[in-house]
Amino acid sequence: MKPRKLQVPVVGTERHQPSSPPFKFPRREFGKKNVVKRSFLPQWFQMWPWLHYWEDMDAAFCFICVKAYSENKLNSVSDLETTYISSGYTNWKDACVNFQTMSPVDAIRMQY
Ligand SMILES: [Zn+2]
Repeated sequence: MKPRKLQVPVVGTERHQPSSPPFKFPRREFGKKNVVKRSFLPQWFQMWPWLHYWEDMDAAFCFICVKAYSENKLNSVSDLETTYISSGYTNWKDACVNFQTMSPVDAIRMQY
């Protein structure tokens, strides 16, 4: 199955990891009753080096997956990967859990 044509963020040769400060990561609201505000945490860049952050969308992408996709190296793209490749990950509240699930896939892709 050929992967659908996805809109991907512009990635150069380097992952984009703005530091804070000077960049102020915007906060998003989560929950209906008990609203919590969370923003992207710059220390995640150390924990998950594949993170590629895009200020315009306030969203995180997987640098490795975006690159692999752009170079037509992916045979298929799952819904999870579509988030990290195209729509961007923004659920900061559960980021630690969700980023963890991405890492095993990328350990394989790193070898490309
Ligand atoms: Zn990935």
